[in-house]
Order: sequence, then C-alpha cells, then structure tokens
Amino acid sequence: MNCKWICLVSLGLLCTGNVQAVELCGKAAQGEILRGHTDYFTKVISNGKTHRVSPYGEFILAFGRDDAENQEIVIKGENGKSVKFNLKLAKTAWDVQNLKGVPQRKVTPSKADEAAILDERRKIGDALAKDMEKSYWKHGFIQPVEGRISGHFGGQRIMNGKKMNPHAGMDIAAPEGTEVRAAGDAVVTLNADDLFYSGNVIVLDHGYGLHTIYAHLSEMSVKVGQKVKKGDIIGKVGKTGRVTGPHLHWGASLKGIKFNPMSLLSLTNNNEFCFIL
Ligand SMILES: [Zn+2]
Repeated sequence: MNCKWICLVSLGLLCTGNVQAVELCGKAAQGEILRGHTDYFTKVISNGKTHRVSPYGEFILAFGRDDAENQEIVIKGENGKSVKFNLKLAKTAWDVQNLKGVPQRKVTPSKADEAAILDERRKIGDALAKDMEKSYWKHGFIQPVEGRISGHFGGQRIMNGKKMNPHAGMDIAAPEGTEVRAAGDAVVTLNADDLFYSGNVIVLDHGYGLHTIYAHLSEMSVKVGQKVKKGDIIGKVGKTGRVTGPHLHWGASLKGIKFNPMSLLSLTNNNEFCFIL
C-alpha cells in the first residue's frame, strides 16, 4: 500500500512522502511496546534509538513513561533511502503509590551507601545495554508470577512521605518462595546478589535490546550466559533490597527505555490492533 503525500488517517497518524507501508501493532501510548513490520527498510529510528529490522521485516519500538505525545519515526533502507513519519502517542494516566514503612536508609541513603548504589546502576545499566542480534522475543511472553499487583508501572511513588522517582516496573505480591518464571525465551545476562535497591536480581536478554528484570528474589537458579525458555523457573520471590514485603519487581527495557512489562503479553498476539503508518 502506498501512503501518498500528506495523508491523515483515522488514528491521528500523519505521514509524509511517497513510501511503502510500515505496519505497527499494539497501543501507541506512553509506556508501551509496539511490534512493527516493513518489507522495504532495514533500520528504524525512534526516540533517539536505532532499532534493527529482522530479515522477515519485523522490529520493535518502545515509548517511556514521560515521552512526548508527538513522536518522529525515521525508517531507513540499505540504499540510503529515509522516510519520516509522525506518530501521535496517547497519554497514559499514572497513579500515585504511597508507601509507608520502607527502611529509611533505602529512602535517604547515606554517603556510605553511594558506592553500592553506583555499583548497582553500573551492573544493571551494562546488562540493559546489551543488544543481541537474535530475536528471542518472537516467541511471546507470559507474566512471570501470579499474584496481586501491588504497584503499577509508572506510578509516582511517595516513600515514607518523600517524593521519589516513578516506578520503573510493576510489583506482583506473592508469598516468599513462589517460583518466578522467565517471561520469554532469553539468555541470562545478569545474576547479581544483594544490590542496594534491587536485592537479588536477574536480567534476561530477549534480543534486539529487549530485556526483562526480576528483582528482590530470595533465590536465583540460573547463571549468566544460560539460555532459558519462556516459563522456565529462574528463581523465587523474596524480599531482598528495598521492599516492604515479599514481591517480584518485574521490569522491562528496550535499549534502555523502560516501559510497562504488561504490554509484552500482547507483543506477538496476532489479534493485536495494527495500523499502517
Ligand atoms: Zn517495584
């Protein structure tokens, strides 16, 4: 399908140029991941990140909690051809999470804790920066543990009365020792003990810069470099790091952009709503 010079389609998508179609599937909103398809291009630049396109034309894009409503997406071909699209993101309403009883040292850390905080940032940052060429994400995702959602992604957190950073993942409350499963096929890229905020944490690499994070574990049963399948047990729910009770903090990141991990559950769902740019 050709998209003619300045055509405004029903979803508020504005595209310019005379190009072959690019399809996006999912919810075009803050904090969501989208699956795309193009037959004619090899790279997609969105949100300051360059995403690879698979030999079958598939790619993924994500938008953070506070990303602007008006996004520019640039699609590039091998011949140097480049096309720009404007994509309008829906705004997401974020809740407020008022948490009491958080150990005060984890809310207002001392100078002595700085080294541990930097060490955690570096370890997780290095893991999330990995960009494996294999697309393990194609086989879909599950929720890693069942339980009450005790904290949504993006919630503005207030801990012991102090305004903190928004929540970068989602919290699932479950009894200590509940098995935690790999959300998708992956390679284990971090297994770290006793980090200041995350406690015992595992990071899985699903390829193309997509990672999932599992924090506050009581036990970890996989090693760095190990391949896991969707549903494999990787550890157990715990209360290590900054917590008020046992839960899994489940995070998701695409090339460092944190998004709502629940949006992974429909990433490869063929019934997902798709639209043409
Ligand atoms: Zn959390």
